[in-house]
Amino acid sequence: MANPIAIRDVRKTYGDFVALGSIDLDIEAGEFLTLLGPSGSGKTTLLMIMAGFIRPDRGSIKVAGREILRTPPHKRNIGMVFQNYALFPHMDVAGNVAFPLRLRKVGQAEADKRVREALRLVQLEQFIDRRVDQLSGGQRQRVALARAMVFEPEILLMDEPLSALDKKLREEMQVELKHLHQRLGMTTVYVTHDQREALTMSDRVAVMNHGALCQVAPPREIYEAPSDRFVADFIGESYFVALDAGGGGELALGGRPVRLSQPPRGEGARHYLVVRPEKLALLDGETGGHNVLEGKAEDVVFQGESVLIAVRLADGQRIAVRKSTGHGVLSGLPESGEAVRLGLHPEDSVVVRDA
Ligand code: ATP
Repeated sequence: MANPIAIRDVRKTYGDFVALGSIDLDIEAGEFLTLLGPSGSGKTTLLMIMAGFIRPDRGSIKVAGREILRTPPHKRNIGMVFQNYALFPHMDVAGNVAFPLRLRKVGQAEADKRVREALRLVQLEQFIDRRVDQLSGGQRQRVALARAMVFEPEILLMDEPLSALDKKLREEMQVELKHLHQRLGMTTVYVTHDQREALTMSDRVAVMNHGALCQVAPPREIYEAPSDRFVADFIGESYFVALDAGGGGELALGGRPVRLSQPPRGEGARHYLVVRPEKLALLDGETGGHNVLEGKAEDVVFQGESVLIAVRLADGQRIAVRKSTGHGVLSGLPESGEAVRLGLHPEDSVVVRDA
């Protein structure tokens, strides 16, 4: 069961403070969309408005063409999973998962069947009689997920559901959640401030800042064609190298024209080349090339799967280049103090404008 969501001009203020500006967002039926942004950017506020726990100042949210803003939360047919699980610790797993069905007055036999089915989906059937306070964090999170899905909602909303778990479990649960979504195909809106989680799980990522949407696009596009400096900075590891604007409006780096495969993005008068350490090539000797950065290696740090080389450019700006530690790579690396030339392929070169 999946339905599209159309959010129009949704605004929320607290006194003078604008928590959400004016949000317009379409979410496709069956899509996994992630709201990603720093703390306080308005992610939870938007999710809570969708769930019905916060009333916006104005705007409209339609699900499959029907306005839902005046519908109370339990009648919206929306399942919700929070960071802190919000389970009843004294109840057993079955009691927790059955709760939304009791709220909706589903008969006992039907409820039992659905509870078993939901627990089977999250692979917790064998824990059906276990008290929730005797489960691990990952198991509790799956109980919360089963409870959110048991009444077969059209839409699933998740607010940082994995942030309380340790790294390994979190990564396992990311894969499980993604598989579950692929199987069930519910329209899913997921909130996180973890960019890797967002890129891993989503069909599309909506990057938020100061109560506004900066960019809504598939993970690869967010990474490779960030819409402005904020997105480029927030996603991945980035350095910004100031470019010179030539007489004819041509952008230059070290006196040579910059070659780009896409026009500069964002707004503002100054132009910056977005430099991602893993996209830089170490150039030999005097080889020519476009988008060449020259400087001196300052630190060479072994980090396990890769080596990070901090580089000071001639004008004092600092950037870094990352090389994976495959066979033979380490022997070819510069040493601290050595002059280096780095090249950025035009296909990998993004320029953002800024004030
Ligand atoms: P986090 O990742 O920290 O959860 P978020 O992006 O989910 O952040 P929101 O919880 O949506 O952010 O909050 C957005 C802004 O609205 C924050 O600056 C917050 O302080 C403010 N805010 C939220 N609720 C209230 C409230 N009841 N009264 C006043 N300000 C509020």
